[in-house]
Amino acid sequence: MLNRAQRLRERGIEPRLEVILVGDDPASAIYVRNKEKDCAECGILGNTRRLPANTRQDELLALIAALNGDPGVHGILIQQPFPPGLDTFTITGAVDPNKDVDALHPENVGLIALDRPRFLPCTPAGVMALLDIAGIDLKGKHCVVVGRSHIVGKPMMQLLLARHATVTVCHSRTRDLGEVTRQADILVSAVGKLALITGDMVKPGAVVVDVAMNKNLEGKLAGDVVFSEAEPIASYITPVPGGVGPMTRAILMQNTILAAERRSI
Ligand code: NAP
Repeated sequence: MLNRAQRLRERGIEPRLEVILVGDDPASAIYVRNKEKDCAECGILGNTRRLPANTRQDELLALIAALNGDPGVHGILIQQPFPPGLDTFTITGAVDPNKDVDALHPENVGLIALDRPRFLPCTPAGVMALLDIAGIDLKGKHCVVVGRSHIVGKPMMQLLLARHATVTVCHSRTRDLGEVTRQADILVSAVGKLALITGDMVKPGAVVVDVAMNKNLEGKLAGDVVFSEAEPIASYITPVPGGVGPMTRAILMQNTILAAERRSI
């Protein structure tokens, strides 16, 4: 990535990511700081705009419009969750789709659904990268995704389908979650509930990918899966922290470089 950023610089283009953080959610503040570090490591100019929680929607939309119109800005990301009073659909839809490195603009969501992504959805693409690095074949495998959010669960389903997996998606109204997860050759959990997935919910030999980032009783980062129970049963399992999170961050950097490269053609 550093090489690609360097090549852009040699042509007078400084890849630039603008992150907007509204409010003072402590987890979001950490994620944004991590993005700043990642940008610095990848040769991207990362700039964070920190706005108060009472920022009005029209003020935020005006800032997004200004960044959309600035040719020096290649990527725009608005850190979620938003404080109450801000409409997610309106805000994500206001970002120029060619700068939407988080792949949440309706046009980019549609392109992902049509298997023609302009930008890869960061977390699901990070999961796919982990599976590929581990050499896990997806064709014909039964993948169970727990969670159906726009950011993780749904695009995860689409990327897995595009790779010819058979996909089941579970959510809060799924009856007998364990009954479904026990059928999974590949289980991806993206809920945000500590200890939701216990060892008896994992099929022996399954691949287990834990997307979630929860705080455990000691205040440390932990996933949805009870790692100590699932690890001896699974053929492959991702830890939290140190699993999906860093891959998500890498895909965001990749999308930003890609946006800059496209603008420079
Ligand atoms: P979200 O928008 O809150 O979605 C959670 C999903 O889990 C919803 O679809 C919900 O179902 C489902 N759910 C809730 N309780 C359930 C239960 N008991 N059984 C089955 N499904 C249940 O969360 P998100 O933004 O997708 O994030 C999910 C987790 O991933 C969080 O811990 C978040 O911090 C983490 N995350 C990690 C990364 C990373 O880089 N590692 C990136 C993004 C998010 P309904 O739709 O029915 O409500």
